[in-house]
Amino acid sequence: MTAATLRAEGVGVVIGGRALVEDVSLEVATGEVVALVGPNGAGKSTLLRTFYRALRPTSGRVLLDGDDVWQLTGRQLARRLAAVLQEAPGEFELTVYDVVAMGRSPYKRAFQGDDAADLRIVTDALAALDVAGLAQAPFDRLSGGEKQRVLIARALAQQTGTMVLDEPTNHLDLRHQLDALHLVRRLGVTAIVALHDLNLAAAFCDRICVLDAGRLVAAGPPTEVLTADLLTEVYQVDAEVNVHPRTGIPQISVVPDPEHRRKGAA
Ligand code: ADP
Ligand code: MG
Repeated sequence: MTAATLRAEGVGVVIGGRALVEDVSLEVATGEVVALVGPNGAGKSTLLRTFYRALRPTSGRVLLDGDDVWQLTGRQLARRLAAVLQEAPGEFELTVYDVVAMGRSPYKRAFQGDDAADLRIVTDALAALDVAGLAQAPFDRLSGGEKQRVLIARALAQQTGTMVLDEPTNHLDLRHQLDALHLVRRLGVTAIVALHDLNLAAAFCDRICVLDAGRLVAAGPPTEVLTADLLTEVYQVDAEVNVHPRTGIPQISVVPDPEHRRKGAA
């Protein structure tokens, strides 16, 4: 599970005659954590789907340590790259333990059971995401945030060097948002993470890539990318970018339009 380099070369996705992603080239260096941000519908999930091979790009290619992901078998890819998705399709009837144990399947033959090493890996992953107490609970009954943590635990149990995460902090409370991103950093894996929270992106990610209407419009360290002008252009908001007094990390605050501010606010 050594960290790899993930590269998109001129990736384009056209569906139903519409370009959802256009000519995106980016590289996530070994061990780097890159945020993918942009408005709803910008194409973040679509681009990430091409990375974990759920969608074949119409043009361009995706390379993992130089290997085109479409040249690998599903199993080979699953040993090298784990994906944490927004929605978990059809995990009904499974316990939390079972869902996390699915992370071990790329290493097994059909019907091969879990051995002691698998048990330890799954148990560690459950503990790392603070879901050990839910191990025997049915996955379907969990809250959105608990489900999300279980799916991150599954990716962890997969022991890959690269992770693709699509809004993994969406349903999480503040503590668990920080824990999830601390964990990704601590693992030392190569990671690309779609995030809505620009402050989290600035705090945890080495670089930020901004997608707008399917195109990559900015990429670079948070201090270079997160400017008031960019936020206005991409998100159509009036925003202030300050430097956090304790961390030196850029801090974004959105300024509500004057007519909608609460009574008494300046
Ligand atoms: P984001 O993750 O940035 O919010 P998505 O990648 O989910 O954006 O979607 C980008 C655009 O592509 C949206 O307008 C969405 O409706 C459209 N889209 C996504 N998947 C499909 C699909 N399979 N067929 C047609 N349109 C799609
Ligand atoms: Mg999305």
